[in-house]
Amino acid sequence: MSTEFGELEQTDVAVIGAGPAGAVAAALLARAGKSVLVLERQHFPRFSIGESLLPQSMAYLEEAGMLQAVVEAGFQYKNGASFVHGEKASSYDFRDKHSEGWGTTYQVERAVFDQLLIRRAADQGVQVRFGHTVRSMRTGHEPALEVEDEKGNAYRVAARFVLDASGFGRVLPRLLGLETPSHMPARAALFSHVQDALPAGSTDRDKICVAVHPERRDVWYWMIPLAGGRTSVGCVAEAAFLDVPETQREAKLRELIRAEPTIGRLLGDAPFLMPVNRIAGYSTNVERLHGPGFALLGNAGEFLDPVFSSGVTIALRSAHLAAQTLLRQLGGERVDWAADYDAPLRKGIDTFRAFVERWYTGELQDIIFYAQQTPKIRRMISAILAGYAWDETNPYVADPVRRLTALYEVCSGEPT
Ligand code: FAD
Repeated sequence: MSTEFGELEQTDVAVIGAGPAGAVAAALLARAGKSVLVLERQHFPRFSIGESLLPQSMAYLEEAGMLQAVVEAGFQYKNGASFVHGEKASSYDFRDKHSEGWGTTYQVERAVFDQLLIRRAADQGVQVRFGHTVRSMRTGHEPALEVEDEKGNAYRVAARFVLDASGFGRVLPRLLGLETPSHMPARAALFSHVQDALPAGSTDRDKICVAVHPERRDVWYWMIPLAGGRTSVGCVAEAAFLDVPETQREAKLRELIRAEPTIGRLLGDAPFLMPVNRIAGYSTNVERLHGPGFALLGNAGEFLDPVFSSGVTIALRSAHLAAQTLLRQLGGERVDWAADYDAPLRKGIDTFRAFVERWYTGELQDIIFYAQQTPKIRRMISAILAGYAWDETNPYVADPVRRLTALYEVCSGEPT
């Protein structure tokens, strides 16, 4: 077909963004015989934050034909999460958990990981164009995207369906006015990578370490050992607490690292390997995760908070669920995107939301550091920390708010 932009290309599915959500959705659809075109505005490898995966995500990588490549890539193995606050410490081993499924995963440099996933998608028949930016979309039963390449050439792609996996680019929420305020307060993160030189045995490299600031329970740090003696370190707080001029970011993060006893002891003098970054106001939401001819995946939909490393897992879960729903639709079935995609995806997001909200009030910290926790309850909490936030056999998934409120009463010794 000819248009003012030249030939109108046709594809079954157009995917905006080649991050984890886009790559996994594209691969699943291509494996089912659909023609898929991924449009990515950047060139890979490119830096991205979000380096600590959860074991639940392994099942989606496996189904998308990516697991072996991930296993062979030499990423840092991960089997749990440890939490510290001053003298208090609590460690969760994800292999000991309520839900069935993977108990281990990896801590990854996202530049390498994301490139590997999109390459595996391309190996399986997905067409990928880097340096191509999606500018606008016509919605409806015959959606079409307007795309611009790096030379400024515009062209259009007609698709039977569009998946928006544009992350914080949030292409369709912005173009279609779907954004709604997130109920999470505006927080920020200061972060970098350091050369860690950690002596063997000084810390458990197989776990992310989450440390609470000695004086402020709403301020926390991550320490994520990566392969090759590199560690990702960051601090999260209300945006104003980390609001320093760009030239002072490095000094601020250094001061914060040294203020926390565990991370300060391990990384207090470790040299930064890249400029200290700041990202703020990252919590996002949308009124719905679908519309005529499109669905929103990963961060293009809702993003809560980094504290439980749930972002990539939610992105891959959304990719899997959207691909399943779309394959049924393309096969001629009538599907209800609200009931088949939006509601089931939000179920797990709501589980994480209950945990995140109680982390910042301090209630979940009391639960996590409670020394007399029963093994059964620890396994249920461990399952959610491992990403199994959709397994309704876990009471903390089936009814997270009521269960956490009751558990906090036990752990704090105070009725709420
Ligand atoms: P992305 O990975 O962001 O990919 C989106 C892609 O779309 C990008 O490559 C972008 O270039 C492309 N794009 C954007 N606009 C356009 C356009 N107009 N046209 C074409 N392409 C476009 N998650 C974890 O799982 N573990 C963690 O430890 C973790 N830590 C975090 C720490 C912080 C401080 C923050 C803010 C987040 C963290 N996350 C973490 C969340 C994680 O970063 C995201 O959830 C995850 O990257 C989302 O993946 P995605 O595929 O949805 O989007």
